[in-house]
Amino acid sequence: MIVEVALPVPLRGGFDYLLPEGQPTPTPGCRVRVPFGSRQLSGVVVTIKQDSEQPTAKLRQLSAVLDHQPILSERLLEWLNWASRYYQHPLGDVISTALPARLRKGDAATIQQTCWQLTETGLAQDSQSLKRAPQQQALVERLQSGRCDARTLKQAFSATVIRALEEKGLIETVEDEYVADTDWPQRIHICGQLTPNLEQSLAITAVNNHAQGFQCFLLEGVTGSGKTEVYLQTIAPLLKQGRQILILVPEIGLTPQTVARFEQRFGIEVAVLHSGLTDKERLRVWQQAGLGEVGIIIGTRSAIFTPLANPGMIIVDEEHDGSYKQQDGWRYHARDLAVVRARMEKVPLILGSATPSLETLNNALGSRYQHLSLGKRAGGANAVKHQVLDIKGQALDYGLAKGMQQRIRLHLQQGHQVMLFINRRGFAPALICHQCGHVEECHRCERSFTLHRQLKKLQCHHCGDAKVVPHRCAACGHPDLQPVGMGTEQLEQGIQRIFPDYSAMRIDSDSARGKQKLHGLLEEINQGKSQLLIGTQILAKGHHFPRVSLVVILDVDSALFSADYRAAEHLAQLITQVAGRAGRAQIQGELWLQTHNPGHPLLQDLLNNGYQHFARLALKERQFAALPPYSYQALFRAEAVDGNLAYGFLEQVKACLQPTDITLIGPLPALMEKRQGRYRMQLLLQSDKRTGIQQWLSNMMSNIEKLPLANKVRWSLDMDPMDF
Ligand code: ADP
Ligand code: ZN
Repeated sequence: MIVEVALPVPLRGGFDYLLPEGQPTPTPGCRVRVPFGSRQLSGVVVTIKQDSEQPTAKLRQLSAVLDHQPILSERLLEWLNWASRYYQHPLGDVISTALPARLRKGDAATIQQTCWQLTETGLAQDSQSLKRAPQQQALVERLQSGRCDARTLKQAFSATVIRALEEKGLIETVEDEYVADTDWPQRIHICGQLTPNLEQSLAITAVNNHAQGFQCFLLEGVTGSGKTEVYLQTIAPLLKQGRQILILVPEIGLTPQTVARFEQRFGIEVAVLHSGLTDKERLRVWQQAGLGEVGIIIGTRSAIFTPLANPGMIIVDEEHDGSYKQQDGWRYHARDLAVVRARMEKVPLILGSATPSLETLNNALGSRYQHLSLGKRAGGANAVKHQVLDIKGQALDYGLAKGMQQRIRLHLQQGHQVMLFINRRGFAPALICHQCGHVEECHRCERSFTLHRQLKKLQCHHCGDAKVVPHRCAACGHPDLQPVGMGTEQLEQGIQRIFPDYSAMRIDSDSARGKQKLHGLLEEINQGKSQLLIGTQILAKGHHFPRVSLVVILDVDSALFSADYRAAEHLAQLITQVAGRAGRAQIQGELWLQTHNPGHPLLQDLLNNGYQHFARLALKERQFAALPPYSYQALFRAEAVDGNLAYGFLEQVKACLQPTDITLIGPLPALMEKRQGRYRMQLLLQSDKRTGIQQWLSNMMSNIEKLPLANKVRWSLDMDPMDF
């Protein structure tokens, strides 16, 4: 018997081991310990086979089998195998990424359960002898019908009663096999269901008609159109059948309100997976989901790896959100993995968004996904009015034109809130010497330091490096150092000066450090404590601000002229999402964009015709330029302190290629050429056929790993890259 094991090492493929005599054969999906070089590693069994490509004499024996039962089901293993091939990423590392940290470190996967039972004395004694202590008598009688787990017993009896009986020697604890508590379907109690409008009804019916097998849906609904209500109503019948629902939300979208909404509707507890959990809590949720003890699991990107005993549906909310793409290590896209997982699990998948990604929209328009639309805001809220303000040649106070200031005042006087949006935190993006023009730069990234007045620091937004604000210019020694440009801190200060009678609040990753803090600030906003809200894109995502009637985006020009071909899509998503935050209730919402280019065709189309129209036009442009989703890309990145090495490595990669139908672009410097003291280069592969790239890579990856420079640079491969 040969056991093939996936190990968390940066090498492709599985590793073969011999099974020692007398050792029972482990099932695929079980963890084992094996010798690897001079170390012992734990890995996961992928297959059991008769033969190895290696000569048997060379194979080593595995050291120990760690699990009696597989921790990964056959289906999940198959899915991860697929992912490893698709992303051209070593299987061992893929599996390791998918497992909770505790299981990676070798903790037990099964839950041990402490139970109470009667001792021999307890069994021999008549419970009547306890009749002067009725609680104790009741407990003994309860255990006469069999042992009971500690958790349940504690709910029925006080700790004092339990301790008293233990001291009398009548009861004792034993470790017992854990019995999963899968009663939740009986506890479901639906409460507060709204009457769906026509579009919602159509969507719900469409999903229900396919609820017993795989089908992918795009639920394209403007913000506030009642997508969540559609999720709630489509999952209800599945939950009642005891089928589990996995819901992915963007990092920032996982608010207590979201969770509360699902708990309130069904009256059952929702399991939550986010970055704030301890390893132990994370393992617990993983186990509960795998045992079928929870009906609804809500989590961010990595929650896609949660095992489900009885899957019913997967939902990816705000499917366009960039946080679904992992940006280091194994660079997977949780939405794309969800599509394949849903197909393998034979369950429906709903991708929901007000601003679907062009990839998803293309799949829906091409009928690969069923397209469901919600065009109106539910609950009677009005659509937001979009307007552009031409700021060419206008005097600006803290980035705001005079006319804009009047508009803001008007909304404030009506008792509403105003949201100002600027995509740059800190006080100013640079500090310049007024005498000699010297700008303080981070030498590791060759970019200017951002001035943070509050922290009294200069901070590099690319590597996080920081230092105290200098009093004199490092080049000429003159003390006249002036901030250039504007960030959220400065805007907050300025706004407070222009509108001294109103209170301002800033929300960016500096002011909202930690999830709890952010939730606190958002609560305060909705209580109306501040009238002027200043923020970065944190504010744009998923939250509801019913008191906001005016949203101003101070500067859209930087995104209109970006080198990244996705910038237009992202700007349009941002504008639409920001607009969706305003005027939720009965207030007429307004969105204003300040720009020097009011005639820009992209802006015009977006404002006149909305995201749906814009996105279809943008797709045509992509098709014309043969860009994704009409072509497929893979990006080799390499970085090194010596830029020549990074370049040289990618040259070698390029030389590996036999001429095929793949276009190669590069090696070129990355948009951000230097970071943390390393030079960054990239080589882009593009093809109009996915299989072309896949085939070439699967043949070449092991050769690339052996290239002379492969060990001298830090390199990675990014399938379907999102940033360059
Ligand atoms: P989305 O998820 O698309 O942003 P929500 O589901 O959060 O939208 O709905 C927005 C608001 O509209 C919520 O306050 C919700 O209670 C309300 N709503 C949704 N559907 C209906 C409906 N059919 N009737 C009345 N109100 C609704
Ligand atoms: Zn830096």
